[in-house]
Amino acid sequence: MEKWPIGVFASIDAGLGVRLDVVRELGVTTVHLHSPHPASRTPDKIAAFKAQLQEYGITITCVFGGFDGESYADIPTVKKTVGLVPPETRAARTKELKEIADFTRQMGVDQVGIHIGFVPHESSDPTYAEILDVTRDICDHCARLNQTLNLETGQEPADVLLRFLSDVDRPNLFVNFDPANMILYGCGEPLPALKKLGAYVRSIHCKDGTWSDQPGETWGAEVPLGEGDVNFKAYLTTLDEIGYTGPLTIEREIAQEPERQKAEIGGAVALLDRLKSELSG
Ligand code: MG
Repeated sequence: MEKWPIGVFASIDAGLGVRLDVVRELGVTTVHLHSPHPASRTPDKIAAFKAQLQEYGITITCVFGGFDGESYADIPTVKKTVGLVPPETRAARTKELKEIADFTRQMGVDQVGIHIGFVPHESSDPTYAEILDVTRDICDHCARLNQTLNLETGQEPADVLLRFLSDVDRPNLFVNFDPANMILYGCGEPLPALKKLGAYVRSIHCKDGTWSDQPGETWGAEVPLGEGDVNFKAYLTTLDEIGYTGPLTIEREIAQEPERQKAEIGGAVALLDRLKSELSG
């Protein structure tokens, strides 16, 4: 694969990704896919989906697990509803995430991404040990499928995430780095975090955002690429420094409005193409 192919976060029936016909129109060749609902993960649907991807010339590089009942409405709601941390849904979601990894394998993809949720920042919190166990369980399932598990960044500072990765202690556990999430959640400057996490970074998002006036308590704002506080030229330079050559996957969290997605993501593609040629020139 060429260095830094452009990608986009896509979905077929779940989440806020871009539709595949829009991906094709944008001329983008790689996607991170938001995992479809169970009814779309049957053998017939998988075969049809693979044929469509081949026709469109699109490669999935990572499948992101997502669950019914998750809400990103505000930070307290994320804590209560997202990922494997909420205790009341943990067992069912762990089972579903393994099924999503199986689907990912059937799609021929070797990276599974996940927002694991708010890992407690203190390792003395009893929930911390429980989340270590559930993450090991998922990693071991993915290892049997020759897959990595890539944790989405942002809900904890880089040092907390580094300690968590080390404590889970599994060779197939890595990071999907999202610079905007560091800003949106108020968890630290993204570029120093990227340098610290560098050895673990196996996939990334290109998303932009602005700082909240109450970091960690209220959201910053997610904005079109180039309009926020991530400096994308410095971001790409840092990705180069850590030796990351994989896809630059654009993520824009707007609802399924194809015209707006085409305009905004088209702008992001143009920005990244320009920066890529500046940095290689
Ligand atoms: Mg992201």
